[in-house]
Amino acid sequence: MRQIASSGVGRYRAEQAKKDDAMQRFSFAKEGSDGKARVGVISTPRGEIRTPAFMPVGTAATVKAMMPASVRETGADILLGNTYHLMLRPTAERIDRLGGLHKFMNWERPILTDSGGFQVMSLAALRKLTERGVTFKSHIDGSKHEITPERSMEIQRLLGSDIVMCFDECPALPAERGVIAESMRLSMRWAQRSREAFGDRPGHALFGIQQGGLEEDFRAESAAALTEIGFDGYAVGGLAVGEGQEAMFGCLDFAADQLPEDKPRYLMGVGKPDDIVGAVKRGIDMMDCVLPSRSGRTGQVFTRRGVVNIKNARHADDPRPLDEACRCPACANYSRAYLHHVFRSQEIISSMLLTWHNLTYYQDLMQEMRDAIAETRFAQWEAAFHAGRAEGDIEPL
Ligand SMILES: [Zn+2]
Repeated sequence: MRQIASSGVGRYRAEQAKKDDAMQRFSFAKEGSDGKARVGVISTPRGEIRTPAFMPVGTAATVKAMMPASVRETGADILLGNTYHLMLRPTAERIDRLGGLHKFMNWERPILTDSGGFQVMSLAALRKLTERGVTFKSHIDGSKHEITPERSMEIQRLLGSDIVMCFDECPALPAERGVIAESMRLSMRWAQRSREAFGDRPGHALFGIQQGGLEEDFRAESAAALTEIGFDGYAVGGLAVGEGQEAMFGCLDFAADQLPEDKPRYLMGVGKPDDIVGAVKRGIDMMDCVLPSRSGRTGQVFTRRGVVNIKNARHADDPRPLDEACRCPACANYSRAYLHHVFRSQEIISSMLLTWHNLTYYQDLMQEMRDAIAETRFAQWEAAFHAGRAEGDIEPL
């Protein structure tokens, strides 16, 4: 009797040790699928990330207008931080001295950082691109900087990022095939250098980024090069740069399939709610976008019945909530009239409440999709999603 009990304890301890060990690693488990859509869990030492996942953007070590605990309450498992912004101000070295980005911004769960490449291209001045990397002037104070694959890995390590992105280059579309191919091959050489500079860091992940514009053959070449190097996850880069939804979906129809089935797939910088639904349908597991938080500050609100502009005069006398079905504090405690008033008065609470609502809407959208995929009813769910939006906002009073 005693022996059975102690062997039971022993087995429990062994299982627990195995579990603890697994928790120290980065891993992805697919738990179900429906068509190409997948549901799963990414495990990291800082917690689990339920997929498909939407990552709110915390550019300057804050999701604007939100406290970290409130971001978590919306249902976010992971945030995105921007390497370019943080390296310029307050600098990665300073954040490292202060204990890393998680401690600095009071967010203990996983953080993904981008490589800085995309934002150098879109924000910095006097950019110069060479085989070695890119030099540029800061958009804040004009100071001169360089990012190479090695420096990008160093910055992201100093920040303490859980998911690190390869340093890459992405041409603006449309571009000639020759330009796209050359850029993609440079990014693949940088991916190799990123992999080598990243080294072996248990518990931290490095994601490769597929490039190749909208060209199927270049996307395949890029995916093969990345898979050969070997990464913990794979991003589809170079989309959502103005090509339009139809072209983006057309590309995702083949691009996602070219990436390894057993690793997370991340579509960078996407997007509007219907972009996200279309991406998940095509096999994407992770997304990020400033849209819900930025729109919250400009009075644009996402609901099950489409977009509502709170600044519109029709809301001035409306005692009803934004969205009756929503669990967020803006909908639970305030009327459209109040939200309209504080927006028009430019009160800070307006940005807080509308951002809270938008992030809640996005996270609830992800939860609904995870449930629908797990129960293999994604097509029905998607039809209802589009029908709700087609209905439009509730009738004015
Ligand atoms: Zn709400």
